[in-house]
Amino acid sequence: MHKKMIFIALACISLSSYAQRAKKAVFVIADGIPADVVEKLNLPNIKRIIKDGNYTRIHVGGDKGTYNQTPTISAVGYNSLLTGTWVNKHNVPDNDINEPNYNYQNIFRLIKTQYPVKKTAIFSSWTDNRTKLLGHNLPAAGNLQVDQYFDGYELDTVNFKHDKQRAFMHQIDEKVVAEAAATLKKDAPDLSWVYLEYTDDMGHMYGDSPQFYHAVEQLDVQMGKLYDAINYRTKNFKEDWLLILTTDHGRDEKTGRGHGGQSQRQRTTWLVSNYPALNTYAAYYQPAIVDIMPSIARFMGLSVPKEVAQEVDGTPLIGPVSIADAQVNFIQNQIDISWKALETKGDVNVWVTTTNNYKTGGTDHYQLLAKVPVNNKHALVNVSNIPSAFYKVVLEAPNNTINKWIVLDQQQ
Ligand SMILES: [Zn+2]
Repeated sequence: MHKKMIFIALACISLSSYAQRAKKAVFVIADGIPADVVEKLNLPNIKRIIKDGNYTRIHVGGDKGTYNQTPTISAVGYNSLLTGTWVNKHNVPDNDINEPNYNYQNIFRLIKTQYPVKKTAIFSSWTDNRTKLLGHNLPAAGNLQVDQYFDGYELDTVNFKHDKQRAFMHQIDEKVVAEAAATLKKDAPDLSWVYLEYTDDMGHMYGDSPQFYHAVEQLDVQMGKLYDAINYRTKNFKEDWLLILTTDHGRDEKTGRGHGGQSQRQRTTWLVSNYPALNTYAAYYQPAIVDIMPSIARFMGLSVPKEVAQEVDGTPLIGPVSIADAQVNFIQNQIDISWKALETKGDVNVWVTTTNNYKTGGTDHYQLLAKVPVNNKHALVNVSNIPSAFYKVVLEAPNNTINKWIVLDQQQ
């Protein structure tokens, strides 16, 4: 009896101290590094993060040859990470970023909406990442205010004199990392985005080459500084930190100079994190850049609003997941749906709509066409009373939601 009470008391203390630890997240995008390159080089700092957490290959580019195929281009990839959606939704098909569709909300906006007191930060050479992708100060993007920003260094040609070899870009990345490490250590923003460009510059200039590999080794040193800052916070404050390092696209097989296409090396990317145990989905399925947003949301305890979650193309890499790898196929007035079951309990609600009003800020009226056990792994639903060339199918399972489109004029 006495022993049992002590145990309960200890359990309560450890539970409450766990609850009191603030959840903070940092994601770093290091531009344009194929998976084979990050895997073959000697990168001691990145190895240090992997030792505490994990490394996994992921992909960009959407589902090749389908409605959500996505160019393997920089800003396109960043926005897939930020919004958890592919280009058919976020509408950033290139680096011009002319008309991002802010109806697909980014992780910064979601955090600030639910927790206005939480602080966000961005560290980047490129101002567009804040002003266009995040939509800082834009009414259309919900008037998001990024609390701390260190960017626009590419415009500063006095301190970063532009040279042909683009060494200035390495200097900019060094500045970005110095500001990030100092800010993480001192102010500990709740959510931070660090963007580093130099690797892509060297890739474009030299392709697969000692110069490109050296740039990746310099990135490794920079990651060491960021990881030290995070570990300093974890050790000295009641904070748990998630660090994610990834890239926005690979490079072409032939030279390593280009990207933008759908070849395997351009689509194959990777993710390093200090999170000790990613879930079964991350281990056994085909994770993608769009999974990062829902993973950060999970880690930070954000409850993604239902209408947003229904549109997210990613699946969390952290915590429980019920279903993955869904397929939808239109067969003569019926939709044939299948998925992999990662859990055996609960039901999948199959919601179907023929509209896509969400795209323009409206609401879609879904019909619940089936409710089947997760473990069934398939459903056949009749849509003869809602004939359409477009269907949006949402599979709502206990621990995650999957969104799939059927675009009939694209069907072979
Ligand atoms: Zn890029």
